[in-house]
Amino acid sequence: MRSLNFESDKPLLYLVATPIGNLQEVSPRTLEVLSSVDLIACEDTRVTGKLLSLLGIKKDLISLREHNEVSVSHDLIEKIKKGTKVAYVSDAGYPCISDPGSKLVKICLENEINIAPVSGPNAALNALVASGLCEDHFYFHGFLNAKESVRLEELRELVYKKETLIFYEAPHRIKKTLEALYEIFGDRKACLARELTKKHEEFIRCGLKAMSEIDPETLKGEMVIVVEGSTGEVKPVISNNDIVNMVKSMVDSGMSTKDAIKKVSEMTKINKNIVYKVYHLN
Ligand code: SAM
Repeated sequence: MRSLNFESDKPLLYLVATPIGNLQEVSPRTLEVLSSVDLIACEDTRVTGKLLSLLGIKKDLISLREHNEVSVSHDLIEKIKKGTKVAYVSDAGYPCISDPGSKLVKICLENEINIAPVSGPNAALNALVASGLCEDHFYFHGFLNAKESVRLEELRELVYKKETLIFYEAPHRIKKTLEALYEIFGDRKACLARELTKKHEEFIRCGLKAMSEIDPETLKGEMVIVVEGSTGEVKPVISNNDIVNMVKSMVDSGMSTKDAIKKVSEMTKINKNIVYKVYHLN
């Protein structure tokens, strides 16, 4: 369906990117849009309230976060249909990018409300372009699952990707994530971009082995990890064949298939169901 945002009478929701650290990155258009709307829906009213007061803007705020996204989206739609001008912002960067907003956008579109993006900062793109690993194609993964077995499975699925890979991570999980990245991808080139656009902005460009050995105490703040894509020669650390051969050799030495699958799962930290499937499908 075609829709003209600014040359139709259709109602509109502004989706506004906000600074990821440096307030100077608020554009004149961002200021204009945030100043002109009647209501700003945001992830956290305290975070956005602080930003708006720094920008000298006073507006009604309503919180729309992951847990109430659907119900608040429906409330907002009614307001927008009645003529209220609304913008949505997340805590930092673009809404919808590892942040709430996607459900709101879908619900708006289902209700014939247009979406107008207002450009601004994004941590993944900032990290990518400065990493030295930016190629024609890239893949954004965002946060890995907090659960180790799921995280390893997620990473295993990415091992053959040729695109440069981009991950978000929090300081309390950075050590485990860097170790997992090295375990799965081997010593690929990588770049850790920390505190982007802020005073302590730092880029660490090295192999994943060295990166996984960095003292996590020195990796505070917000960070993005960029990893080079597969160069073609890179084999998964544990291939499907490896899994099948490990199970087979245990079965050959007298273990039941069920026990062997359990053992291989424990040894490789690969989900038991995956080991089962890989063994039976190969
Ligand atoms: N919506 C945001 C965007 O467009 O980039 C991302 C929000 S996500 C909840 C927060 C994560 O983004 C952080 O854990 C970190 O991985 C990354 N991030 C956000 N700001 C950053 C910054 N200034 N420097 C480095 N990474 C940042």
